[in-house]
Amino acid sequence: MTIAAETIVIREEHDDTAIPSFFYNLVAFNQFHVHANRTDMVFGLVLYASPIEYVGEHSAKRDFAIMDKTWTTIKLTLWNDFVHILGDGHLNTDSNFCPILFACGLHVKSFRGRTYLTTGFYSRLYVNKVDNVTTSLSTWYESNKLAKKRVAGFRSTPLSLQSFIDISNAPRIRLATFYAVQYCRVIANVCHLEQADNFIYEACHRCLKKVVIFQGVPKCESCDLTNVLTIPRLLFRFITCDISGCLKVTMLHDLAQNILRCPATEIKLLLQQPNGRTRVMEMIFSKLGKKSFSWIIPPPIEEFNPHHSYTVSYVLHVDWAEECMWLTKHHQNKLHS
Ligand SMILES: [Zn+2]
Repeated sequence: MTIAAETIVIREEHDDTAIPSFFYNLVAFNQFHVHANRTDMVFGLVLYASPIEYVGEHSAKRDFAIMDKTWTTIKLTLWNDFVHILGDGHLNTDSNFCPILFACGLHVKSFRGRTYLTTGFYSRLYVNKVDNVTTSLSTWYESNKLAKKRVAGFRSTPLSLQSFIDISNAPRIRLATFYAVQYCRVIANVCHLEQADNFIYEACHRCLKKVVIFQGVPKCESCDLTNVLTIPRLLFRFITCDISGCLKVTMLHDLAQNILRCPATEIKLLLQQPNGRTRVMEMIFSKLGKKSFSWIIPPPIEEFNPHHSYTVSYVLHVDWAEECMWLTKHHQNKLHS
């Protein structure tokens, strides 16, 4: 558009708080192409709102998790005046309460391969404005048990917002297709556990790297310190299996402690007792053995290697009700396409 001397500019008289009625391009959350640019418009359900955080003397920010009908969840960071859009307190946690946010002029950003949105100078945000587009989303939500489950999950998770977004966006797969996917989520059993001595090690208390025994005392090669103070850490390597295949996986300290509900220090104490090894193995077997978990696994960095053990990002107990709903949805989509 060119504005020249002969151009006449007329101020449009309309309600300034209404959603602009001129042409706009609505972007689905699974269609964001990452480039530092403004999007046209987005709308989605607000699953979660973090507390307001004050940055420096004059800035405030708040993170929302929003989801649209593509089941993609995205983080939206609101800055300054926008942080008050849903009030300043905690978001109502009732799953029937799910505000619809309509936004234009947001910035699309990317950090460590994750796309997120932020408000900017030209952004405009609307909550629960009624029009055909937003009504279709609220109707979808009201009749969708799985969407309500997702909302409840976001509002009750002990994980960080980004972790939960990663988990909820990870496509569900079977192990046989692991080599071909990006970030994924797979339900599989633990079917081979290593012996007790192999999954606990002594780590340098400063850098958390495994120490070596040098002249009878622990030495951290990374910090170059001898007789360094150590703490026990867990590292599990095992094989997971589903109906389609197997995969070697590694579960690091925090996840292992979490899934065993037992700190490494306690396991170390148990191992030092008579018959401790058997008791530890029994405890681990009761928590992991032949049980199904939902594994969230990043893709292979290089070409898939079946002998490599892939480190899992998160491990969740399987919510079978949710899995059944996903399966039903998956088959419905297949039927309709
Ligand atoms: Zn160290």
